[in-house]
Amino acid sequence: MEYLGRKFIPTSPQGAHNTTLNIIPHDVTFLVQCRVCGVTREVDRKALGAKTNGAGELADIEQRLSCSSCGTKDARLMYGYFAASVSW
Ligand SMILES: [Zn+2]
Repeated sequence: MEYLGRKFIPTSPQGAHNTTLNIIPHDVTFLVQCRVCGVTREVDRKALGAKTNGAGELADIEQRLSCSSCGTKDARLMYGYFAASVSW
């Protein structure tokens, strides 16, 4: 997928995340996409951590995210990397 003109490669599994925030490498980028209006935003790991009280299960965090554009709570939380751009 594209985000702000850059190619984003999600490494997160599709569907339910049985993963907790603390085991995810610190160099990944978190993106949240609204399933209703399609808005995609980069989110800060600390902001995600603040959404949870302790364990930081991604499935739990995902359910707490509400879209800042349309207000819906139906977000897809992804994490991964931006592909390096190669010029030659
Ligand atoms: Zn939305």
